[in-house]
This record gives sequence, C-alpha cells and structure tokens, in this order.
Amino acid sequence: MQGLNQDLPLLLSSVLQHGATTYGAVEVIGGHANEAIDYDYVRLEVRARQLASALFGLGYGPDRFIGSLAWNTHRHLELFYAVTGVGAVLHTANPRLPPAQIAYTINFTGYETLFIDTDTLALAEQLAPQLHTVQRYVMMAPPGAWPPTSLPLLSYEDLLASGNAGFTWPVLDERSACLLCFTSGTTGMPKGALYTHRGTVLNALSTGGGNAWALNADDAILAIPGFFHCNGWGVPFFGPMYGAKLVLPGRRADSAFLHALIVEHGVTVAPGVPTIFLDLLRHCRETGGGLGRLNRIFSGGAAPPLAMMEAYLRDYGVRTIHGWGMTETTSGATMSFAPRDLPPDEALRAMRTQGRPVFGAAIRISGDDGTELPRDGITPGHLEVRSHWAAAGYFQRLEVEATTADGWLRTGDVAKIDPDNTLHLVDRSKDVIKSGGEWISSQALEDAATNHPAVREAAVIAMPHPRWQERPLLIVVAARPVTQAALQAHLLTLVPKWWLPDAIAFVDALPHGPTGKLDKQELRRWLADGRLDIASAPS
Ligand code: AMP
Repeated sequence: MQGLNQDLPLLLSSVLQHGATTYGAVEVIGGHANEAIDYDYVRLEVRARQLASALFGLGYGPDRFIGSLAWNTHRHLELFYAVTGVGAVLHTANPRLPPAQIAYTINFTGYETLFIDTDTLALAEQLAPQLHTVQRYVMMAPPGAWPPTSLPLLSYEDLLASGNAGFTWPVLDERSACLLCFTSGTTGMPKGALYTHRGTVLNALSTGGGNAWALNADDAILAIPGFFHCNGWGVPFFGPMYGAKLVLPGRRADSAFLHALIVEHGVTVAPGVPTIFLDLLRHCRETGGGLGRLNRIFSGGAAPPLAMMEAYLRDYGVRTIHGWGMTETTSGATMSFAPRDLPPDEALRAMRTQGRPVFGAAIRISGDDGTELPRDGITPGHLEVRSHWAAAGYFQRLEVEATTADGWLRTGDVAKIDPDNTLHLVDRSKDVIKSGGEWISSQALEDAATNHPAVREAAVIAMPHPRWQERPLLIVVAARPVTQAALQAHLLTLVPKWWLPDAIAFVDALPHGPTGKLDKQELRRWLADGRLDIASAPS
C-alpha cells in the first residue's frame, strides 16, 4: 500500500523559493570587485527567475549544458539557480586547473555559452582558440566594467533584463542532472561528476544540519571554496536553505582580505582547505587581529594539522569541523562533531578524525581482494562509500569503474574505521608509503612535522629504497631555522621509530594543486629531477 504523503520532487528551485519566502531579507554580500550591492534572497530569486526566463527564451532546458568560468559572486550564484531551474546543467569549469585541462573539460562537455567574469576574461581569451563549441561569452559584471576584448561578448545584465521576472519554475524530475564538476585530474585528464537535483538537495540538507555544519539563521558563511569545487561545498544552497547570510569573496583568497570580511560581516563559519586556515592564523598572529563572531571553521579537502586546530580553539575559541568528501561525493560524506562542553583535549581528539557519516552516507573498508575489513580502528583498508549523492559513474566515461560490483564508490583513499563508525583517513592510496610491506601514512607524518613550531608547512612523499622499496622523504617549509636532528627528535615523540623520514629537504614553498591541496605529483617530479637538496640525509 502506498502512503498518502504529497509527492514533491527535490529541486534546487525549491531551495531558492524557500530562501526567498522564508528568509527573504537575509543579506548576501559580494558583488563584482568594489560594486556595492543591496542584495538578499528575495533579490536573488527574482533575478534568477529573470535570467532563467532569458535562458529559456534562448532554447535552454533539459539535456542542455551551460558553462561558467568564474569566482564566487552574486551573479554566479544566480546562474547556479537559473540554469538548473530551467532543467539545464551548469558545468562550473575550474579556473585553477591548467589551461589545457580547462579546455578539455569544456570541449568534452560541449556547449555554446560560457559565463565568465572580469577576473577570468584574460583566461577565457587565452582559451578561446582551443574551445571548439563555445560561440558566446557572457560577462558577469556591471555593464562597462570590462576592457575591450576580441571575444564575442554579451552583457549578463542585458541578458538578464531581456527575461521576465514572472517566470515560473518548471517541475522537473528530481533525478535529472543539474550540475557538473570535474575532478582536479592529478592523474590523467579530469573526470566529470554529474550531480542530480535530488542528490544535491539531500547532500545540502544532511551536511548543513545537526552533527555537521549545524547551520541556522544566526550564521554568516564566508564562501571561500570556489563554486567550481564540489559546488562550493554546498554553500550556494546552505544560505537559502538555512537562512544563513552569505559572504562571497570573489577571486581574492589572501588572508588579509578574508580576515577583513570575517570581522566586517560578522562571519560565524568559514569553510576551506587547511592552507587557507594556516595563512589566516599567521595573519592574526602577526597583526594581533581577532576573529570577530567566527566560532567554527569547516576544514576539508586535506587533513588539517593538529597544531592548527589547537591554536584556533585555544586562542580564538574557534572549533574545527573536520569533514571528508570528494568531488565524487558532491561534497562532504563524513564530519567530525565535538560537542561544545567537551574538554579541549577530547574535542581535539574528535576533530582530528574525519568524523562519522552524515545521514545518507555509509562507509566501509575492504582489502585488496575486495572483502570487507573489520571496523576495529586498527585495520587499514580501501575506503568505499555509498550514498544518495555519491557518483554511480563518470560523465560520458562509463568505461571507468567508479564503483564495486555491489555499487559502492571506490574512493582511492586508505582508511581505518572505529567500531562507532568514526573514519580515520590514513592516506590517498597513491601517497601511502609502502616500506617493507607495511604502510606509513604520509598525512600522519606531515601532521607530526607541522606540530613543530619551526615548521610552517610539510609534505611527505616516498623515495625509492633498495631494501624497503619505499622510505619517507620529509619536505619542509621552515618558519625559522631548525636542524634536521631537532626535527627527527620531535617526530620520534609522535610516530614510531621506523616511520622516521630517511631524509629531510628544506624548500622555500611547496606546490599546491588547483584546489589548494599539496601537489605531490609535482613534488615527485622535483625529486626525480634532482631539484630537492636531500644530500645531507641523516643516517
Ligand atoms: P577532491 O575531489 O579534489 O575534493 O579530492 C578528494 C580527496 O581529497 C579525497 O579522496 C581525499 O584523498 C582528500 N581529502 C578530502 N577530505 C580530506 C580530509 N578531511 N582529510 C584528508 N584527506 C581528505
């Protein structure tokens, strides 16, 4: 017997409508460059409807793609809702990828219209000769705010003005595609994760609530992750869904700028990769600045150093919500939760883990032969995920086996799971150091190294070894002079002796990939090309 609940599809347009009708006056900060905007969720919805009507007039609807190559501004936010609202799919091209990879993702998807902004104009001009299908570029800036260009350019505001704000959002199939994000392609060309309305709404509902981001109408979120990386980690939907204020920083991600936004706009929660928070911490220490209303950071994308989480908690009362996820899981799948009244030591212990699955996601680990391994907190295995919002396959790459035979997503991560379902990520499968048949976690070594006050940033990669196959090499950016012996002695207090790096190299800066994570491929090239000074390795 079927139940008698109303059967309404989960659509992104319903998230927007909820925001406009329920939290209409909640502010959104973040126009183009210094443009002052008077903007809230009512304005967002009206303008998104107008743009949707214009796009509909151009023939856009289900089965059509539109691209964006842009930073986080209110126009980009409107585009998210307008494109998906008419049933088309928005491919958020990642301006941080190498140009050849950006061109690949656009050509691979194949569409005529690419939305850009003034900060991506030069990049679009550079890419244009390689873009085989793009015929029109739409500039998301106030009219006249851009220099002359050879691109066939249309003004976003003109396009929007041609639409009708009385447009009604069509009722779509909740399983239809809405957004397309490509992986950052550290091995081979990027692969596309094609999200559904249903998966995206459920992901935002689940990760924004309860033991995760715990959002509410008192929050102001600083949207640091680019909208092109896992849909900006859900932030474009969190605002209207939970009535939180949004602060959109555009292109800039330097700590002085982010700090000013946090203080000026009463930001309460800021998501980002650990590097961003390390820089912000250094900035606060150097300037003596406080963090205003900020009470939690959401750290994802890489393991946050313990010392960093400790400093935020101790010096600023800011808790870290530590999340794990990947492009293929829409955004977060597990989150750490440290109740407010936990003593700092216990809170940090919880924050160090990747947390527990949010509702709608399940995790397990398996051995090389595919058998499931125990949740005993000791045994490491290949992490697999099943969820309403995890990828079932890759966009137009169905030959790539994204999942196991029984439908669990292969993540490429190695992890341990506690009996209470807490996830401990050990490493990326390809980054783990295999020494004499045992695994050494490069991430755990990096964390131990950054715990030393003289270490600003650290990376660990494998060096080939005649006897042990691989041994760890520690690469350090020092904040002040420190000897190798001092670092080794410090590490010995935190990791087993056999984990100690065989060599330590000092560099001025470490390479980062398009989403701000350490680029270990590049470090491996440095090692292979002899660009790392590891001659003075301790015995
Ligand atoms: P991306 O698809 O670019 O978001 O990258 C996803 C990958 O980033 C994951 O498979 C992990 O290897 C890594 N990652 C994400 N979150 C964390 C975390 N909290 N701790 C350690 N690694 C992480």
